[in-house]
Amino acid sequence: MTLAAVGGVSSEPRRAPEPSGRVAVCRSCGAELGEPVLSLGNQPLANALRGPGELGDPEPRYPLDLALCGGCSLLQLTEAVPPEQLFSDYPYFSSVIADLVEHARALARRMIDERALGPESLVVELASNDG
Ligand SMILES: [Zn+2]
Repeated sequence: MTLAAVGGVSSEPRRAPEPSGRVAVCRSCGAELGEPVLSLGNQPLANALRGPGELGDPEPRYPLDLALCGGCSLLQLTEAVPPEQLFSDYPYFSSVIADLVEHARALARRMIDERALGPESLVVELASNDG
């Protein structure tokens, strides 16, 4: 499978950016978020590769700020980019990278052994973009 086959590189013009939304409460516990603890300014979206016809156009950028929740200590982005904007032309799929899949498999086996995990264990995997 190629990246293009799974929706990767496209020469089609990117749609106009959707407005993003400021996240006011913690995604985990619902506590009100304070001011960002780290602000990296306005940044282009990850993997938003530009086609040759787009190089002269302004590049959509979004605030890249992190806030620490005082309720549960979750460090999180303060801006929510609409999924259709972030993933409509997203060329990175971790499941097609054999070495990464093997690394994840080995890590899972090691965690099962080290933590004595079984069928009744609760395991949550975060940040997988394609399952
Ligand atoms: Zn929280």
